Amino acid sequence: MWQFENCLFKLQIIFKFSNLQISNYMSVLIFIDQNDGKVKKASLEAISYGAKLAEQLGTTAEGLVLGTVSDDLAALGKYGVKKIHHVANETLNHLDAQVYTKVIAQAVEATGATVVVFSYNVDGKAIAPRLSVKLKAGLAAGATSLPDTSKGFVVKRNVFSGKARAFVNITTDKKIVAISPNSYQTIAGEGTAEVVALNATVDTPKVKVISENKVTGTVPLSEAELVVSGGRGLKGPENWGIIEDLAKALGATTACSRPVADAHWRPHHEHVGQTGGSIAPNLYIAVGISGAIQHLAGVNRSKVIVVINKDPEAPFFKAADYGIVGDAFEVVPKITEAVKKMKGIS
Ligand SMILES: Cc1cc2nc3c(=O)[nH]c(=O)nc-3n(C[C@H](O)[C@H](O)[C@H](O)COP(=O)(O)OP(=O)(O)OC[C@H]3O[C@@H](n4cnc5c(N)ncnc54)[C@H](O)[C@@H]3O)c2cc1C
Repeated sequence: MWQFENCLFKLQIIFKFSNLQISNYMSVLIFIDQNDGKVKKASLEAISYGAKLAEQLGTTAEGLVLGTVSDDLAALGKYGVKKIHHVANETLNHLDAQVYTKVIAQAVEATGATVVVFSYNVDGKAIAPRLSVKLKAGLAAGATSLPDTSKGFVVKRNVFSGKARAFVNITTDKKIVAISPNSYQTIAGEGTAEVVALNATVDTPKVKVISENKVTGTVPLSEAELVVSGGRGLKGPENWGIIEDLAKALGATTACSRPVADAHWRPHHEHVGQTGGSIAPNLYIAVGISGAIQHLAGVNRSKVIVVINKDPEAPFFKAADYGIVGDAFEVVPKITEAVKKMKGIS
């Protein structure tokens, strides 16, 4: 009997302790970024991640949207967010990291959030470090999975361009996690979110946007699930037709290696790698690219990598799931034809 009571007492202590830990987390606030009023795919991953994290911490997930939007924000509830705070101020339609940081800091204050989640995309990279300084909050940038909260708040993150992983324990009261795009699956369920207007002081940006040149017609590289990429093996810009034809047949976005962009064969926004875009599509087809580490740094998180190269010793084959040793000018048109046939495209 004494043993049983003693055991019950211990259980109560453990229960109280875990309650105490849980109550430390007021809520998880997810920054939902948008482009031209449309919520970005990377933000859907951030919401799914934040919702799961909130569940893990025994708290609720709330979202924050800045600027005017055309998307139905309440519908984002299906990704697990319960409430969305919306600062519908037109000044926020263009990203200004300094202005955004101040507004997000006000939202953190208003909601009492203790964990802020970003996507580690262009917006997240610009804002999260500034917010970290402003809130004196520890930041784990480039997280690839949910934190281990059993002993602290340990986040796994990519370092050295994805060549290694670091485990960082965020010990500050407020915590910021910025997750690598495409590293966490979007989970859609059911439900709607309550959308509430948030009043915040919005500074006048110090930088004025005069004009914007946007790439239209294709899925942006950062959001693309299928990518066909060309390297110096294609010899010149006049040969890019075979890359574009394959991309069109697949419904893919085109990319390139750095020397190709440096030589102005392709626009710089297509350049992927350590000094270019970092992507993680479901399929990455590399044509005439050697596979230098600086290139791999931007694409090695792709789910499936297909390499087409005439040199069987090309380093890229080591990172490939499928490899074709052959001349791109013979192989690529054949694949394009096969894809078209399969899809019934003439
Ligand atoms: C600090 C630093 C940062 C860098 N950042 C980046 C970066 O972000 N992104 C990046 O891409 N690079 C980057 N680089 C450059 C990188 O080191 C490589 O030089 C570059 O990736 C090579 O590009 P490539 O593979 O297109 O060209 P190459 O190395 O010239 O390779 C061409 C390939 O095409 C193959 N080939 C030739 N003809 C054919 C054919 N007919 N059919 C099929 N295959 C053929 C060849 O066998 C070869 O493997 C960086 C370098 C440095 C020093």
